[in-house]
Amino acid sequence: MTTPVAADARVVALVPAAGRGVRLGAPIPKALVPVCGAPLLVHAVRGLLAAGCVDQVVVAAPPDMVDVVVDALREFGPTVRVVPGGEERSDSVRLALDEAVSTHPDTRVVLVHDAARCFTPPEVIRAVVEAVRAGAPAVIPVLPVADTVKEVDSAGHVVATPDRSRLRVVQTPQGFDIDLLRRAHDQQDAPVTDDAGLVERLGEPVATVAGHPHALKITTPFDLVIAEALFSGAQL
Ligand code: C5P
Repeated sequence: MTTPVAADARVVALVPAAGRGVRLGAPIPKALVPVCGAPLLVHAVRGLLAAGCVDQVVVAAPPDMVDVVVDALREFGPTVRVVPGGEERSDSVRLALDEAVSTHPDTRVVLVHDAARCFTPPEVIRAVVEAVRAGAPAVIPVLPVADTVKEVDSAGHVVATPDRSRLRVVQTPQGFDIDLLRRAHDQQDAPVTDDAGLVERLGEPVATVAGHPHALKITTPFDLVIAEALFSGAQL
């Protein structure tokens, strides 16, 4: 724990959405794929703002589709800004972070949220923000693992069976003290799939809060079917 962050400290959410979403097999970037009547990205931004604790959202869009993304997010007004994303996910996060800091240098708390987790319940978002405000410099939402997980070598032979009770699957938003996230990105030396991984490499503690099954990551056509089935009748 570090010093608690003031309760009114500014909170920005970064949404890296510049990927192509190849595994979904759609002809457009995943963030723009419609689900339950709106693009994934629109649901994601709506959910962040509905949590009531996010002051600004910065979206990293595919560089050749910034205009389309700006158009899709017009309903949210100036609270939501769009920047061109980068080569890798971490580049997109860094570009969005730069934008947030340059427009509002007083920002203290940063969330990094996958557009693909567009139905994350507001209580998960609030729990992450509250934990950072309470003094945890890095916070991730997690769920227990239902399946037994094996580690395999390149030939597919099992090399280890980690104790399932100690494993967690990780969701977003991940929350950070802004100075720590900046330091973690400045010292990045190899790709990681999440920002908390960069913080771990610095030797800094990462706390967990309870995630939620509805924060599922829409990656494949199967996930889209699940999301439609779960949320198409919901008040979104
Ligand atoms: O490919 P993966 O599912 O790990 O991507 C996670 C998130 O990072 C997606 O929302 C994707 O749009 C985003 N991304 C990005 N810039 C890239 C690559 C991925 O913003 N260059």
